[in-house]
Amino acid sequence: MKVILASRNPDKLREMQSVLAFPGIEFLPVRALPGVPEVVEDGDTLEANAVKKARITAQITGSWALADDSGLEVYALNMKPGVHSARFAGKHGDYAANNRKLLELLRNVADRRARFRCVIALSSPAGRCRTVEGICAGCIADAPRGPHGFGYDPVFIPEGHLKTFAEMTPAEKNRLSHRFRAARAARRAWHSLLSGPNLPDWPD
Ligand code: IMP
Repeated sequence: MKVILASRNPDKLREMQSVLAFPGIEFLPVRALPGVPEVVEDGDTLEANAVKKARITAQITGSWALADDSGLEVYALNMKPGVHSARFAGKHGDYAANNRKLLELLRNVADRRARFRCVIALSSPAGRCRTVEGICAGCIADAPRGPHGFGYDPVFIPEGHLKTFAEMTPAEKNRLSHRFRAARAARRAWHSLLSGPNLPDWPD
């Protein structure tokens, strides 16, 4: 069965492809298909964005499509930046500026609890969706550390660890990450659907 991966972010695609190993499923990145427009992520929640990306991609390609949306939720900031994580400091995907803004807002703040959350949506070609989520709890470091990863990885320390995500190898991070946990939830919830015959839609 062929499933389109609706993400265009190369960092996330790499991680998604390594954590989403469904036997019998061929994942195709959406940019390999001509004529599929980029979906605007303007939802108020991670769920809304994941569903929108999966649904539009599935309807346009006529294939099953999987999309994720993820973000960092910081307790002392009322769970912000959340759905706005990519453009927290203004410019989309400016990882260094986002981290500077976050550390500045948390200067002298004792409560450094945070979590990454990832929502994965799987849409049938008709646009009917199901979602699962994965959470990785942790806290925000006092300063960025580590050369690996992307986004908030240099400032996020997962619970039970001393290193930031960016100080871990990709394999170490993948075993703990919100995306890995969401992919595991997806495998559990959708295993029989995805390893079975090419279903036209979700069973009722
Ligand atoms: P997206 O909308 O799912 O691409 O993610 C939004 C933003 O959340 C990204 O631009 C990153 O800043 C942040 N983010 C999501 N996942 C991670 C991660 O695994 N590590 C670090 N930052 C992440």
